[in-house]
Amino acid sequence: MADTKYIFVTGGVSSSLGKGIIAASLAKLLQARGYKTTIQKLDPYINVDPGTLNPYEHGECYVTDDGAETDLDLGHYERFLNVNTSQANNVTTGRIYQSVIEKERRGEFLGKTVQVVPHITNEIKERIQLLGKSGDFDIVITEIGGTVGDIESLPYIEAVRQLMWELGDNNAIVIHLTLIPFLSAAGELKTKPTQHSVKTLMESGIKADILVCRTEHELSDDLRDKLALFCNVKREAVIQSIDASTIYDVPNMMLDEGLDLVTLKKLALPEQQEPNLVNWNKFLDRHKNPKNEVHIGLVGKYVELQDSYKSILEAFIHAGAANEVKVTVEYIHSEYITEKVLKDKIANLDGILVAPGFGERGIEGKIRTIQYIRENNIPFLGICLGMQMAVIEFARNVLGLKEANSTEMNSGTVHPVIDLMDEQKDITHMGGTMRLGAWKCAVKEDSMAHRIYGETLISERHRHRYEFNDKYRKEIEAAGLKATGLNPDTGLVEIVELADHPWFIGVQYHPEYKSTVANPHPLFVAFVEATLNYKTQKSNATLA
Ligand code: GLN
Repeated sequence: MADTKYIFVTGGVSSSLGKGIIAASLAKLLQARGYKTTIQKLDPYINVDPGTLNPYEHGECYVTDDGAETDLDLGHYERFLNVNTSQANNVTTGRIYQSVIEKERRGEFLGKTVQVVPHITNEIKERIQLLGKSGDFDIVITEIGGTVGDIESLPYIEAVRQLMWELGDNNAIVIHLTLIPFLSAAGELKTKPTQHSVKTLMESGIKADILVCRTEHELSDDLRDKLALFCNVKREAVIQSIDASTIYDVPNMMLDEGLDLVTLKKLALPEQQEPNLVNWNKFLDRHKNPKNEVHIGLVGKYVELQDSYKSILEAFIHAGAANEVKVTVEYIHSEYITEKVLKDKIANLDGILVAPGFGERGIEGKIRTIQYIRENNIPFLGICLGMQMAVIEFARNVLGLKEANSTEMNSGTVHPVIDLMDEQKDITHMGGTMRLGAWKCAVKEDSMAHRIYGETLISERHRHRYEFNDKYRKEIEAAGLKATGLNPDTGLVEIVELADHPWFIGVQYHPEYKSTVANPHPLFVAFVEATLNYKTQKSNATLA
């Protein structure tokens, strides 16, 4: 195919309408028709990346293979498309300004006054076209964060306007995602907010080609006619997006509404084959018809906001479907672990995942939970900080090193079983300076990890500054907590597992980032299987 085509997705009326899911669903349909498709997210905030943001602010920070700390929507893109994203797929205002200011300091603007238009908008246009120019994609979908009319979105909207003009008809379109609220007092769906947001977009010189309407109730034919007429779009371009019970239903819902067909028509692209969703629908079928259920505790300090652990929750959905098991996740706040919580709650669960995290808050709760799990043979998966806490617990309670700790929590601890990595010691800046992205891990044969992965060399994504302190390795391994995965170049411990426990694994990396619908992560699949076995054993024991 000649040139890449561009789809811009804007949002109107309200935030949190799910632009990321709509973009990922459309991309899935286009991919299933045979188009090489990628998605990009432009975020209007000033942080250079979400790496420095507290999860309460913006949900989980998603990490790509190339070590970019990105918006959680990129996780949805990877999970839906099973294609890796990279730094180029997420751009923030902070990054745009940083790069323009660096160019100005290098003297690249030849004495000109540097302005929002054209310098910032040019930089945005360049970033949008970076993926298209790579030649790897037929279609690039660019999601513009925020809501039309926001002050901070203006440069993006102007860049889109210019690009639409430069690329010409049939090469770029705008999909506007909007809300059709239901007024219960009037018993009616209302189109006026959408008319206004389309008008706001028009004031910036952009005409929406397609309207995707988020709604709690079916849109009637009359309402669709009205939206088409007053928002200046074709009748077939009014797409209903009704609340779904799972995000994984949305591609099929968009297929039924013809979003892919109207998109291809506007881009003057052939329909090619009918979308091949055979495997996708097999997954959906298993997800919706589980034969069993397990209850897994997620112990963390950000449990009030489920977006903080988005990739973990999605990985459980993939692994649940693979096992034909419904995974019900029970949120347990690590700050409030008491003996009562252990006995009344944790003891009744089928497995526990101790979550990643930063800082001291809640760590003693995590350590106490892990001790309970270890002593009571409950299946355990520890991720990143969760793995580090398992090492500390073991050092304290099995080796008797009562003061064992991570230097992240106590820089003066006499037993720093978790310590700052050498490469981190001279780093002063917080942004983008952790050990990030994909690193190799050599898996020891005859280990549980080896049985799970079926491979001796794996690659997983990382986001941390601290590591298992090699000075304590011999002692810890001799007592039964084995390091079964090591970085082949540095020897850094990547996986630990308990020899005399049915299922107890801690990993320094984040397996959740790599779980997709097409490729559920083996560690999550095995963990869910272990929780099911444990549950079955428990009920057999009670029956006996
Ligand atoms: N705070 C720990 C570290 O920096 C763990 C990080 C994490 O859980 N992602 O090493």
